[in-house]
Amino acid sequence: MLELDFEKREMQNLSSASSVGLKPVLRARYASPLDVGNDLVARLSPPSRHSLLERCEPVRLTARQVLQERRLPMQHAYFIESGAASLTTRAGDCPPVEIHTLGRKDFVGVPLVLGMRVSPHRCTVHVPGNALRIETEALIGLIKADREIEKLLLRYVQATLIHSSQLVACNSRHNLPQRLARWLLVARDRIGGNEIALTHKCMAQALGVRRAGITTTVGDMEASGLIRRSRGRIVIVDESRLEEASCTCFRVIRSAHESSLAGPIALRVAHP
Ligand SMILES: [Zn+2]
Repeated sequence: MLELDFEKREMQNLSSASSVGLKPVLRARYASPLDVGNDLVARLSPPSRHSLLERCEPVRLTARQVLQERRLPMQHAYFIESGAASLTTRAGDCPPVEIHTLGRKDFVGVPLVLGMRVSPHRCTVHVPGNALRIETEALIGLIKADREIEKLLLRYVQATLIHSSQLVACNSRHNLPQRLARWLLVARDRIGGNEIALTHKCMAQALGVRRAGITTTVGDMEASGLIRRSRGRIVIVDESRLEEASCTCFRVIRSAHESSLAGPIALRVAHP
């Protein structure tokens, strides 16, 4: 209740705040990079971070909320602070398959960085949480005006390309127990905790397999002491042994993300 009251006051403050300068509530809430739940925003220098934050609004992400729809213009981009979303694609009449698990290290709006306004993929919230939302035009303006924000988001695009290509290799070369272990580790990395509130149906969709296969594999992992099932959640009990059970794809994806975003980005050079 306290949280809801805070958010209600916060939204009232946002609606009445001046459009000039960082809104007072956001300024206090994100005074330090450590206060920003999204890893990408936290990597920005204070001037660029403030430029971005003053155009954002904090929003709740609810289960099954669609953040971007396939083949439709994007209205907003999102910097996820908590929870998890799934970026999916389709192959003909087959059920959608996940191509990316998104969380606190991610940004929903890659097409905008590449000059496109229509999304080729759907993005749906699977685990409720929070995000910083920015209107499409505001983000495009920032990308043009702020070299540091452009550079950060392009680096993120590079990380997602490696992520997607590794999934292609993983899905064609590795077995279901390895892939499920990889997926759980990526989800843990994105959510930032050992409890993953997802159903077997969601995991089956993520891996493009039947639910019965997920149920069997989850049961085997639980019997081996790697994970535990608890009220619609998967709890990772032994991370190191889960890594041993996984293929190497998790490490490739994690290191690609870190190496793509590593290094200084604070280049305050205006576009000509
Ligand atoms: Zn793999």
